[in-house]
Amino acid sequence: MIAAILVAAGRGSRAAPSTTSPKQYVELDGKPLLVRSLEPFLTHPDVQVVQVVIHPDDRALYEGSVPSSDKLWSPVAGGATRQESVRRGLEVLQPHKPNRVLIHDAARPFVDKATIDAVLEPLERCAGAVAATPVADTLKRQNTDTGLVETTVDRTGLWRALTPQAFRFDAIYEAHRAAARTGRTDFTDDASIAEFAGLDIALVETDARNIKITHPGDFALATQLLPRRSVDVRTGQGYDVHAFSSGDHVILCGVKIPHSHALLGHSDADVAMHALTDAILGAIGDGDIGQHFPPTDEKWRGAASEVFLQDACRRIKKAGARLTNVDVTIVCEVPKIGPHREAMRRELARLLEIDISRIGVKATTSEGLGFTGRSEGIAAHALATVVFD
Ligand code: MG
Repeated sequence: MIAAILVAAGRGSRAAPSTTSPKQYVELDGKPLLVRSLEPFLTHPDVQVVQVVIHPDDRALYEGSVPSSDKLWSPVAGGATRQESVRRGLEVLQPHKPNRVLIHDAARPFVDKATIDAVLEPLERCAGAVAATPVADTLKRQNTDTGLVETTVDRTGLWRALTPQAFRFDAIYEAHRAAARTGRTDFTDDASIAEFAGLDIALVETDARNIKITHPGDFALATQLLPRRSVDVRTGQGYDVHAFSSGDHVILCGVKIPHSHALLGHSDADVAMHALTDAILGAIGDGDIGQHFPPTDEKWRGAASEVFLQDACRRIKKAGARLTNVDVTIVCEVPKIGPHREAMRRELARLLEIDISRIGVKATTSEGLGFTGRSEGIAAHALATVVFD
């Protein structure tokens, strides 16, 4: 059996951005540090048991944070030092006779399966293995009296010891008990206890992102190290045509334009706004304008088309998306669209509640060809883009 101990009993007062929660319960991009550190062990196929050691005051925080899992045992209360907390975790596991144990700090949220595999692998040949990185910086020893540099320390062969650290269970259990009997409480990691007991420990170079969250600034750094979430962008397309009939104005994108004819339709016949409404509905896969507002329904006779557009906007929000841009193309010989283009964009910006820079309104003729070329009516095309965050 392979067991894992997560050490989450510290107060973490140096790192927590607020004073309300210890750092292991502070959320990193919506998920507590502890949960990020825990999940790779819960999902690892070879790890059968995960024992978290918590501060006795954090029981409610813990219960409110962790996912439910058959592998996750009831938390055990830690002691005054990290060393004592780990020993208490080992004592709970010991009667169940695990042959290996992984020990990991809850403040290292970037542990992953590859790192866990890498520290387990050397246990075939030695009693323990430590996730580590070689020291890359030049090291200085300070004269504590003068505050000045006393000497440069040779960094050859120096490594930074991280977690997880993996051990043969019986070996680290006995090492911890022996260390406790001496009364020493100053061991800062489990490998140093194993060294104290004379065990062979391997250094395993692991992912440099496996940082420990110690200071408030580390949360900002950790946020940058998170994998970028994929963005779910969807587009929709709409098309509509209305024929000219007798009248003295048309309405396009909500703007009234004097003209020798009107457009024929059940509502106000705003062909451009209808195409745009269908584009938005298309982007969220929610039917079309005719389905939500049947032309057979007397209620919509002469209706201002902004009713349809605003309904589509509500549907975007309900779907959990936001509109990022729209683009409308109006196809007609007459009336001239150019002089009204900015008024149309402003009206759409107001109705859609997005910045005017995200709204395109374009017009083209069809060179005298076809029904639009013969000025029998107006056609409109539209595209809409939405993002699901
Ligand atoms: Mg229509």
